[in-house]
Amino acid sequence: MDPETQHWAIHSHPLCLNCSGSTTEKTVGEGNRLGNIGRRYFRCKRCNKFSCFGDMRGVHLSNPVCYCEGYLFSRIQIAGWKGRQAIHGAIHFVCAVGKCNFFEYLTDDEGHILGFESPPDDPRSMGF
Ligand SMILES: [Zn+2]
Ligand SMILES: [Zn+2]
Repeated sequence: MDPETQHWAIHSHPLCLNCSGSTTEKTVGEGNRLGNIGRRYFRCKRCNKFSCFGDMRGVHLSNPVCYCEGYLFSRIQIAGWKGRQAIHGAIHFVCAVGKCNFFEYLTDDEGHILGFESPPDDPRSMGF
């Protein structure tokens, strides 16, 4: 499946999980260090919270499913180095369609959170 295609389960703009406001569709601009430039995403008009990306990148059948109805596979992504991320560079899973609060870190067998020390050169080729 082409990861750049629109996520099959996103039929309308998701509502904001923070304030229930409506989201608007945007495109990631220059300056993003995680290979996301040009990706479409949704952001809340009212509180400005990021909702979700609109594509299939990072959605793999090996990911855990989120809390949404219908057995939806979550999206794997890398926490950014800017902003309010709890652990910069941590690999984690979130709801792929912005409709539930699913959040899980990728961990090794001993429960250590896996991640990157610095932004990888081509996260896209790594499945993110
Ligand atoms: Zn909001
Ligand atoms: Zn979900």
